[in-house]
Amino acid sequence: MTVTLITGGNKGLGFETARQLISAGHQVWIGARDPDRGQRAADQLGARFVPLDVTDDASVAAAAHRVGELDVLVNNAGIAGERTDPAGTTAGHMRRVYETNVFGPVRVLHAFLPLLQKSGQPVVVNVSSGLGSIAAAAAPGSPVAAFAMVYSSSKAALDMLTVKYAAAFPDMRVNAVDPGFTATDLNQHRGTQTVAEGARVIVQYAMIGADGPSGGFFSSSGPVSW
Ligand code: NAP
Repeated sequence: MTVTLITGGNKGLGFETARQLISAGHQVWIGARDPDRGQRAADQLGARFVPLDVTDDASVAAAAHRVGELDVLVNNAGIAGERTDPAGTTAGHMRRVYETNVFGPVRVLHAFLPLLQKSGQPVVVNVSSGLGSIAAAAAPGSPVAAFAMVYSSSKAALDMLTVKYAAAFPDMRVNAVDPGFTATDLNQHRGTQTVAEGARVIVQYAMIGADGPSGGFFSSSGPVSW
């Protein structure tokens, strides 16, 4: 059976991704930083729960030890951070968001790499965002240009990590996905898609075969411009 870990799986897109992957036959671990929320979500889904705070080295190392074997890693945990404009953005704003959205996936991948390398078909899905697209941000009149600088930049950094990891591990499928604007706590449920719609592309790339692409950035409608 395919063993899958989803970070930040206790709610939102992570929870829905877990639900869909369990339906597809995966054995899913829900990683969550809050034990009550994590255990409750796992019980609801028929998943297993592992305490996992992506900002904490010891927590991530303990989670890798506990999980023991892994085929699919979904780096889903993410935060929006404060919506500062460029002039008001400090290194502190950046550091807080990068700790979760950028250093988190690095920390988790580094700790789980030995497990993934023992898998016959290892897969990593980095949950990015269309807001991380530099091409979209640079387009004339783009609403992304000045808005959400910290968050957008963290997802652009995650995209670069995706390309670097894919090149470093040719036997692994490593892709970034954009779920699209989805109603979750992250955006106070202003998103226009349901979590079922948003999770679809995460599930698609979590279930990708060994002959599938690696080092790409995809939404449900196909490749996304970096
Ligand atoms: P959400 O409902 O707020 O869920 C975020 C999840 O991440 C929660 O489970 C949260 O746990 C967890 N998390 C945050 N910090 C963590 C940490 N340090 N360690 C472990 N878990 C942590 O938001 P969402 O919309 O489902 O977001 C999931 C991913 O999709 C994020 O990477 C986000 O950037 C990306 N995304 C979302 C949208 C959208 O429109 N919603 C669009 C593009 C990309 P707690 O419950 O403990 O806070």
